[in-house]
Amino acid sequence: MIEVPAREGRGVRVAAGQSFRVIDVDGGQVADTFAFRADDISEYHSAEHTRAYVSRLFPRVGEHFVTNHRRPILRLEEDLTPGIHDMLCAACDPERYTGLGVEGWHASCQENLQRAMADLGHPDVEVPQPINLFMNIPVLADGELGWEPAPTVAGDSVTLRAEIDCLVVVSACPQDIVPINGNHPTPIAIELLDL
Ligand SMILES: [Zn+2]
Repeated sequence: MIEVPAREGRGVRVAAGQSFRVIDVDGGQVADTFAFRADDISEYHSAEHTRAYVSRLFPRVGEHFVTNHRRPILRLEEDLTPGIHDMLCAACDPERYTGLGVEGWHASCQENLQRAMADLGHPDVEVPQPINLFMNIPVLADGELGWEPAPTVAGDSVTLRAEIDCLVVVSACPQDIVPINGNHPTPIAIELLDL
């Protein structure tokens, strides 16, 4: 079990065919999830390609997430949550917090990704649009987006299977201005399952 402390990120190597579970430890916490091809990180999970691939805003169980080269990289194996996730919003970054009125440094999913990938030997990395597990961004009839607290409870999880060798990074989103984490960021856990 890999613990992702509140407001931080962690990366892990996942072999093709291996599954991993992303667990919302305390509930109500967004987990920004990224996946890169292990032997060429210029190929990575792409939200915009995945939306076109599944013709939905987010894959259903049994469907794939694909890369910027339209190759399946992750498969949604199991969803033990209310089934609400986002794949529209960019990772939070320093500019996001400046725009929200924060003065000085604030942890962000972008920096968490960059640090986790540096720890895996990749100090320079593209910041793709994440798979925002557990994130509740309702799309209203007129196209407006809502920013609602994650509806998960303690122990809710999503299981993903790697279809190619990949580097997976999960960030326990430090957003505490917009209420997506109930204004109280908490930890996430990654459980690697046996092949
Ligand atoms: Zn974030």
